[in-house]
Amino acid sequence: MSQLKRNTAAKKSKGQTQGDVLVEKLPLRLKSHEEELARDIQRESAKVWNTVMTIHRLFWFKYGIWIDEATMKEFLKGRFSVHSQDVQAIIENYYECWERTKKLHEEGHTEWRYPWRLKRFFTSTWKVTGITVEDGYLRLSNGWKKPPLKIKLPARLKGLEIKQVQLVWHRNEYWLHIAVDKPALEKVQGEAVAAVDPGEVHALTLTDGREALVISGRHLRSLRRLRNKTLKKFQKAISRTKKGSDRRKKLLAAKYRFLNWIGVQISHTEHAVTKMAVNWSLQRGVKKVYIGDPQGVREQDCGRHHNQRMSQWSFGRLRDLLEYKLKRHGITLEKIEERGTSGTCPICGKYTKQAGRVYRCGDRDCGFGGVHRDVIGATGILDLAVNGRFTFGRKLPETVSYVRPAVLTPMPGHKKKKAA
Ligand SMILES: [Zn+2]
Repeated sequence: MSQLKRNTAAKKSKGQTQGDVLVEKLPLRLKSHEEELARDIQRESAKVWNTVMTIHRLFWFKYGIWIDEATMKEFLKGRFSVHSQDVQAIIENYYECWERTKKLHEEGHTEWRYPWRLKRFFTSTWKVTGITVEDGYLRLSNGWKKPPLKIKLPARLKGLEIKQVQLVWHRNEYWLHIAVDKPALEKVQGEAVAAVDPGEVHALTLTDGREALVISGRHLRSLRRLRNKTLKKFQKAISRTKKGSDRRKKLLAAKYRFLNWIGVQISHTEHAVTKMAVNWSLQRGVKKVYIGDPQGVREQDCGRHHNQRMSQWSFGRLRDLLEYKLKRHGITLEKIEERGTSGTCPICGKYTKQAGRVYRCGDRDCGFGGVHRDVIGATGILDLAVNGRFTFGRKLPETVSYVRPAVLTPMPGHKKKKAA
């Protein structure tokens, strides 16, 4: 295992501007000569990575010295036929990776390997001076030996300040990761707190104690199911073909097209879901949101199917997205252990394992029920966060609204049928 982290430059520049740096991911439809150029650039970037790694290791083995980053930059200046910023970015990337591994080793995690693998292709990076925008085209210069790479800039990025561009190979396609400076968003007014309970049937359930919002997760779940089912079919068909055959190549290409398509659908839905949660919090002046951390729930062994479902729930991604979007409005997201929150009765405090979606207390004398389980869960998280424990007879939200994320979903293969 070795660790690699990209986009460091994009993050580093964040502090310097008023706005927020966002990374937009753009799949490229390249003509064959452009694709050849892209491959060529990535090959040269790989050469940089390989050289840095080889020199760094060699000096250690021969002389017992680890060359530092500044010396490496000085030494490799002007030696490659890519933009000088790309060379610098790769060196920075290498050192960050190396230092992180070193730290892990010092903490006893010696299973992480230092960078060691020689690469054939590597992500290329352009920073401000290598990037120009002309007539709606993005022009990425490649030094004097190679022509620039020209890409039509999508309308949504026009007029934005571009901080960094990376050429990435992902799922059988070239992509541009474009870091843009977006204007800062309106900051929240108010000091209220709320809790959010992430789930599968309901993607997110929020409450501030008075009101609750339940955002449906059905669309997300059906997309994930479609993804898994179709992927299985592809794998089966691919396994029946010969390595290197035309049939296999065609199937692989179709598989990647499908993955890209469904990936966009899922991410659109995740954006819609988190946007609803952010707007709700903004309108109620929520400054801090507590989130149930299902780590404990996920670690239990619940059988193969259940485990698969839980892992595909991709709670982590939705949480990261939510955290990021809230942060842009000055709202913080804080994790809290959620064990027992959806099963503990808000009235008598007795714990009952819940089978249905509607809460039912198992205590005969209490008999509380009729409120949605996830709403109980969210109020439980809020209760734990605010009071440090479950309080009995706590007040439940007076209004509960149910919403579905509104997403446009074109049919699979809608545009791409011809290519298949
Ligand atoms: Zn009860």
